[in-house]
Amino acid sequence: MNKYDIIIIGAGPAGLTAAVYACRAGKSVLILEGGAPGGQISTSHRVDNFPATPGISGMEFSAKLQDQAESFGAEVEYDNAVSVTQDGEDKIVTTGMGGKFACRALIIACGLVHRTLGVEGEEALVGSGVSYCAVCDGGFFRGSEVAVVGGGNTALEDAEYLSNICSKVYLIHRRDSFRGETAAVEALKAKDNVVFVLDSVVSKIYGVMRLEGISVKNVKTGEESRLEIAGLFPAVGQIPQSDPFKGLIETDDAGYIKAGEDCLTNVPGVFAAGDCRTKSLRQLVTAASDGAVAATAAAAYCDR
Ligand code: NAP
Repeated sequence: MNKYDIIIIGAGPAGLTAAVYACRAGKSVLILEGGAPGGQISTSHRVDNFPATPGISGMEFSAKLQDQAESFGAEVEYDNAVSVTQDGEDKIVTTGMGGKFACRALIIACGLVHRTLGVEGEEALVGSGVSYCAVCDGGFFRGSEVAVVGGGNTALEDAEYLSNICSKVYLIHRRDSFRGETAAVEALKAKDNVVFVLDSVVSKIYGVMRLEGISVKNVKTGEESRLEIAGLFPAVGQIPQSDPFKGLIETDDAGYIKAGEDCLTNVPGVFAAGDCRTKSLRQLVTAASDGAVAATAAAAYCDR
């Protein structure tokens, strides 16, 4: 079984940044990635909110970061981590293709996936009008009409954020009461450009190369109506990819790995970085920051 100083699970911005820092600290590093490198950011059409790289595509950003990590000596294995066990102070990672790798310190940077609406047309228009991140992509819809879907705090915050830059925001929710905070709902009701579309679901998404509009169905009356919008922001929950690690480390009720800004989990030598950990702001820049923090702590753990 190959043994590394540090294994990083996930080749998104958090994992790849962790690899850069860990390699530069002189550690041997293996990155395990079950999908395409780059994580969620690789599907972003354009990234305008990372310092000093305005306009870069998510694909280019990911490729550059992977090149940077590999140039410092990180190895990448394209395989899913399916479980982690402890062997004394070592951690043993088993992969979907039956591989076993040992390490002294483990950084989990497995990210999350956004729950989708599962509506016809949604998948094809991701990055062309459909976005799961209002803070990342809202700026592309300045002055346009958009819709947010969901009734939790994320949907309410997204609607608030977008209402400050878009001409009109439809807030579409499948019930008439909200899971998110009442104060946030009241603040939105006070806005002239926010329209509540309650007891309603998105039934169809239109557009060929770009989003052109959606159909909304009232679940009580069955009535359907069409909204001409430039942007659709589903905010119907997220799913952290933490299942393989739940036997080893603590997660909260939603599945996020419990770790603070120091990226420490409840298990010595296991660190969590990026969107998969409990945190208030899930952004490219905070994922990269976590990668640096986790790798520096993991390198120090190896040196103990
Ligand atoms: P959430 O609280 O789980 O809310 C998801 C919303 O999406 C719910 O209103 C749900 O409707 C709706 N929904 C789920 N599946 C749907 C579907 N297929 N079609 C249409 N609607 C659907 O998720 P979240 O808003 O992302 O928040 C996640 C956690 O982070 C929460 O604990 C939240 O409080 C927290 N958070 C906190 C802050 C803050 O404190 N500033 C900000 C953001 C998030 P139902 O209500 O009918 O189930």
